[in-house]
Amino acid sequence: MTLSNLKNQYNDYIKLNGLKSSKRRDLIFENIVKKIGHFTTDDIYSDLLKTDPVIGIATVYRTIRLLVDSGILVEHTFGEKRGFFEINNQQAPEHGHLICLKCGHITEFYSKTIEKNVKFMQKQHNYKINSYKFEIFGICPKCQKSEK
Ligand SMILES: [Zn+2]
Ligand SMILES: [Zn+2]
Repeated sequence: MTLSNLKNQYNDYIKLNGLKSSKRRDLIFENIVKKIGHFTTDDIYSDLLKTDPVIGIATVYRTIRLLVDSGILVEHTFGEKRGFFEINNQQAPEHGHLICLKCGHITEFYSKTIEKNVKFMQKQHNYKINSYKFEIFGICPKCQKSEK
């Protein structure tokens, strides 16, 4: 997923839905596509406050919703009420997440075995599977050390 691909996807979605152009929304978009990994609405909001001190969290929230609806972002909850977002990389294989219950650290993993099992289940239950989520909760190595 290149930056220009994401930009096209964004512009197409705005056009297709007949939305008015908005400098502020564009700014939020620019900020989000630079992000690597997983982030929350608050992360984006505090980043934006540095350059735009009057921006409202509702605007950030709405823009993130729009980006989820347009398929640019994927949302995870990781067992919490708040959402975690990441860029939807359609070229990359489906990945799972390991979530630390103590510090909230998120590790991504790829597993051919899981992929195989999903394909097997697809056959067994005669399902057409669109997507799946694999989330594992536990204690990360760092927190295990500090527990001792
Ligand atoms: Zn941890
Ligand atoms: Zn991820």
